[in-house]
Amino acid sequence: MTPSHYIDGRWAEGQGNDCIVVHDPASGQPFTELMAASSTQVDQAVAAARRALPAWKTTCAADRARYLRGFAEQLGVRREALIALQMRNNGKPRHEAEIDLDDAIATFAYYAELAEQLPAKNRDVPLAAPGFTARTRLEAIGVVGMIVPWNFPLVTSAWKLAPALAAGCTVVLKPSEVTPVVELAYGQIAEQLGLPAGVLNIVNGKADTGAALSGHTGLDKLSFTGSNGVGSQVMRAAAAQCRPVTLELGGKSAIVVFDDCDIDQAVEWIVAGITWNAGQMCSATSRLLVQDGIADALLARLQAALGQLRVGNPQLEEADMGPLTSQAQWLKVASYFAVAREEGLKCLAGGQTLDREGWFVSPTLYVDVPQSSRLWCEEIFGPVLCARRFGSEAEAIALANDSRFGLVATVCSTDLQRAERVADALEVGHVWINSVQAVFVETSWGGTKASGVGRELGPWGLAGYQSVKHVTQCLG
Ligand code: NAD
Repeated sequence: MTPSHYIDGRWAEGQGNDCIVVHDPASGQPFTELMAASSTQVDQAVAAARRALPAWKTTCAADRARYLRGFAEQLGVRREALIALQMRNNGKPRHEAEIDLDDAIATFAYYAELAEQLPAKNRDVPLAAPGFTARTRLEAIGVVGMIVPWNFPLVTSAWKLAPALAAGCTVVLKPSEVTPVVELAYGQIAEQLGLPAGVLNIVNGKADTGAALSGHTGLDKLSFTGSNGVGSQVMRAAAAQCRPVTLELGGKSAIVVFDDCDIDQAVEWIVAGITWNAGQMCSATSRLLVQDGIADALLARLQAALGQLRVGNPQLEEADMGPLTSQAQWLKVASYFAVAREEGLKCLAGGQTLDREGWFVSPTLYVDVPQSSRLWCEEIFGPVLCARRFGSEAEAIALANDSRFGLVATVCSTDLQRAERVADALEVGHVWINSVQAVFVETSWGGTKASGVGRELGPWGLAGYQSVKHVTQCLG
């Protein structure tokens, strides 16, 4: 077995009890396996990060920026291997794997720039009171435990690692047991760049490894991306120690299509919003709200477009959509197809698993879905779209906001004043107007309501790893 844990600047084999079997979802066959980290190894990783903290947080920001640029560059050097690995382990079509890699590269480059600007942010504070001076210091929050999911392994980790390292934090990262090999690239790059030992540690494992990390008393912050169920456990672990936490959780996002839109263009955005990464996106726009005037025409074109999508093994054939990434996810999506049948939902496309090897399902469209339906309310995390019609703008806003989640939304309308008005009224963290889900490192990522706590990306992502200190002096 290859060493799959990077602790204190060295590679180690797992000493835990669990064997993690890594699969190719397009065939359902295993392609490698590794032993999970033991709780002692989690302790070692946290202790290494703690030892590395004093030197790393006082390293001049320009030097930290150089390492971050090194990460961006080295991801580029490993381009082909990382694209192939994501295609194999996640089932991503090539163009999606490329975009993920480019996103990770852009994230490290962006936070290198923010790190360079850090000294200028430590500035004097003008005081109204005479006889005093005050200055601000933005300091690293400390040792951060990071737990991430499997759907965008390079990206979710980059969104945490880059700002944390820029801020001067040291980290212990736990990737998902579904995709434990992709993020090992970050350890290999750290080793190649000569990043000081302990600054970046990676421990692989399942839920118990995650729990050992989130409950560890040696951390100063937890940053978690994943499901709401596990997110609330992580939040409880943080609460037990009164420790800050960032949570990026689930979604049930709306795409609102007004009858003045370009229907063909809207269909493209709707399809991308539910089939990218086979719908395994926290930001999947899985609730379609379409205005009465164009509903029949749009749903007919959408049905045709979903039917034409090429679903297949991206490693062997041209595919618009690959398999679901894990058998558990495939079974979960299949269980929602069964619920839809029990609920008597009207299915215009898909609604079934594919009768072939691997974990494939067909892109699915249910229409006139009641608000009480489980499929309307719950995050499915697959290519399953539920549609409803609306009459007025107010009704669209009310329907879109009628969710316990609040991650993102898309608005399609050629009336830009209306689109902006609706965007302002939506209770979410990010809205796209007449756009695919383009994510830029300069804008924030994160949700309202049950979709999370805190923000990643942009300066807000950096602030999540900083502690604000003020030094006030009496001039006597
Ligand atoms: P998950 O919650 O099952 O697992 C996430 C991580 O938590 C994994 O590394 C897992 O090993 C670990 N874990 C499991 N049990 C744990 C425990 N008791 N204590 C600590 N860690 C534990 O989620 P998943 O299935 O990997 O990912 C899918 C979910 O992630 C979806 O709900 C999706 O919406 C969400 N997600 C959110 C965002 C966002 O930015 N909001 C991005 C990607 C994914």
